[in-house]
Amino acid sequence: MKIPIDPSDDVDKNQYSTEAHLIYGESQDPRWDYSHHLVPPISASATFRLDSAQRGAQGFTEFAHSSDELTVTSKAPIYIYDRLGEPNKDMLEENLAYAEGGDIAVSFASGMGAIAGVLGILTGTGSEVLAHKLLYGCTYSLLTTWYPRLKIDATFIDSTDPEEVRRHITKRTRVVYLESPINPTLELVDLAAVVHVVKEANAGRSNEERIYTVVDSTFATPFCQRPLKHGIDFVVHSLTKAIGGFGTDIGGVVIGPQWSKDMLVLYRKDFGGVLSAKSAWPVLVTGLPSLAVRMRQMQSTAMKVAEFLGTCSEIAQVVYPGLSSFAQYELARRQMCDYDGNFAPGSMIYFIMKGENPHDSLARAERFINHVAKNAYCITLAVSLGNIRTLIEHPGSMTHSAIPTDEQVAKGLNPGGVRLAIGLEKPDDIIQDLRRSLGATRIGAPLEVADFEL
Ligand SMILES: *Cc1c(COP(=O)(O)O)cnc(C)c1O
Repeated sequence: MKIPIDPSDDVDKNQYSTEAHLIYGESQDPRWDYSHHLVPPISASATFRLDSAQRGAQGFTEFAHSSDELTVTSKAPIYIYDRLGEPNKDMLEENLAYAEGGDIAVSFASGMGAIAGVLGILTGTGSEVLAHKLLYGCTYSLLTTWYPRLKIDATFIDSTDPEEVRRHITKRTRVVYLESPINPTLELVDLAAVVHVVKEANAGRSNEERIYTVVDSTFATPFCQRPLKHGIDFVVHSLTKAIGGFGTDIGGVVIGPQWSKDMLVLYRKDFGGVLSAKSAWPVLVTGLPSLAVRMRQMQSTAMKVAEFLGTCSEIAQVVYPGLSSFAQYELARRQMCDYDGNFAPGSMIYFIMKGENPHDSLARAERFINHVAKNAYCITLAVSLGNIRTLIEHPGSMTHSAIPTDEQVAKGLNPGGVRLAIGLEKPDDIIQDLRRSLGATRIGAPLEVADFEL
């Protein structure tokens, strides 16, 4: 592909695919002269030299006034101090906004930083967040441990039923907060249907009382679904997962409408959850450019592994949106598509171990996972997902332990559930490890105390 050396070269970038954009981004950038580097340098400067007091003053005036044409007169951004902005994050944010099809992206120190950031700009004392009943554990903890102190209420509902969303909207509702696919059960929320309900509720509301929709789309990545297309207002991602892809760095991002950019960067400046330039860089140069090829590969492996798990007598149920047995298969096909419109069911699998009762099912899940932890070569017991290595975990006792066990069952989380996050290994290698560990947990095989040793 030709990279334009002279900006006057008239290359129409729209004629290239999204995947090309994720690799090349802007090949000419006034923020950094890297037109002779293939890889942009890591910015490693906490503060920036200002040519004059006037330039410094201009930089402070322009900060968080991106849409104010009268204020912003400089062509290239004036960098002042890393917490306010620096080149690596800016370049990454531009590509992330592009990947999701959003106006703007603002990065944060972690996925939780991004979630706290978007909720921070949309809520205030007295407001209420409607959230799905099953959520990423720390999001649940944010809403139940910290928001009560701010007098922000959270109501937990089943958002897979749009009518339940409608029934629970009140005068104080400001945010409908969703995950799809839901962690860890992989149920989907019909995003367009929820958007429809919220649009109706917003009719006649003032701007201050408007309800916004936020989707944590970490499990899907922008390769497998783009919620903004369905009318969702904000998307959040943990960059730590499949977007970063290699498991080297923690990060998060909010993608949304133009007006939110200044609020988000102001929030980030004052609460301080800034993505380090050194962590933005790998996402920019290795994570995003390889996202499509990694997701395509992982997805094809996930399908084969899910089919294998479906044949195993030790397993009661296999959940993978790519299987025709998936309860919301039609919705999955409609909502989860890659950039070319192909069905893109993702890289996550959830399955429930058989058992005589929930306790037995839990014991078998633990036994199976402990066997994997000790014996598998290509599956690692670790939280996180979207990594080049296949990771396995037990949501009931690990990622979702913030939710008390009896509540987990009420929320539809089976104690015997296991989450498998497919990596880049060959399907047969993963299946070999699964088969061995499942054999060791076969019903009827005696449960040995030694299997539970920590
Ligand atoms: C990991 C994760 C988060 C939090 O991201 P961090 O980068 O760990 O802060 C939020 N939501 C989902 C679905 C996640 O998997």
